[in-house]
Amino acid sequence: MQIPPRESDRRRLALSVIACSVVSLPFALAGLRYSILIPFAWIMGWLEYRAWKRRREARRAAAESGPGEGVEVEMPNVSPLYASLSEEDAAHFRSLAAVFLNEHPVTAIAGAEVSDRTKAIVAAAAVTLLWGRPEWEYPAFGEVLIYPGIFSDDGSFRLVRNRGERGVLGMAHGLGVVILSLPHLEGSPGLSLALHELAHILDGPRETDGIPSQMTKAEKQEWAAVMEAETGKGLPGREDLPRHSEERPAEFFAEAADMFFTRPALLASRRPALYDALVKVFRQDPSSCRRIQESPEAPPACREDTPPPASSPPQT
Ligand SMILES: [Zn+2]
Repeated sequence: MQIPPRESDRRRLALSVIACSVVSLPFALAGLRYSILIPFAWIMGWLEYRAWKRRREARRAAAESGPGEGVEVEMPNVSPLYASLSEEDAAHFRSLAAVFLNEHPVTAIAGAEVSDRTKAIVAAAAVTLLWGRPEWEYPAFGEVLIYPGIFSDDGSFRLVRNRGERGVLGMAHGLGVVILSLPHLEGSPGLSLALHELAHILDGPRETDGIPSQMTKAEKQEWAAVMEAETGKGLPGREDLPRHSEERPAEFFAEAADMFFTRPALLASRRPALYDALVKVFRQDPSSCRRIQESPEAPPACREDTPPPASSPPQT
């Protein structure tokens, strides 16, 4: 998730002109009868460039205006990463949070109320996952729906009001929507819940195989090999993860991503090979407080493990 500089507009305009020229050339060579199609090629190119520029301007405007004062106040309370950053990096974190909230609205459903804290938790999770991967986006992803409680995962998405009835507290839907239970987002498991569901979005809109869709082919192969070796071992404190179902790789990745950011010391000590692989996946190293960059600046302060969430209904 990047905030594009204005200079990139001129480069994109030049590429659009080149593309239109290349598309027009065969029509020009085919003679006068086909040259009538040339203006259409240039009109289509211009419309595409205008749409691209509008999206970029909206992203820059959101970054400059920030996520809002209330969200900024809550951010250090909900995000260990944000709290550890220098002022310059924190300002960039806030800009990315504003971009995320502008492009992926956090919407209340069925009587829930979205507060600045709600937005801060969701945005902090979204930015944390991409902090070391600025080239990544949330693919084919729309909005975040906030429910007032646990909801059914049988396709009806109705609120679960009866004790003993099956329900879930979070879900990443295949249509590109994340659904979260408000009391669990603002209580326990809190940030973990948002990290888990947004990690599913990074997994990919088509294949949910536990392998982020935006990794390179070589990175995917390396991470797949680690998953193959590590998935059967489970995760510290999460022995209830599905071990034999089709959900296994996707759930393992989502839960490992959550643990990587919220309990990095525990994961690094109990599953060092998995932890080292996740350092490469996310290009961050929360346990040793080093941000993986080509030219590392002064590292942020260490992040402590957060307490494990209380036992609660499942996430999907
Ligand atoms: Zn899940």
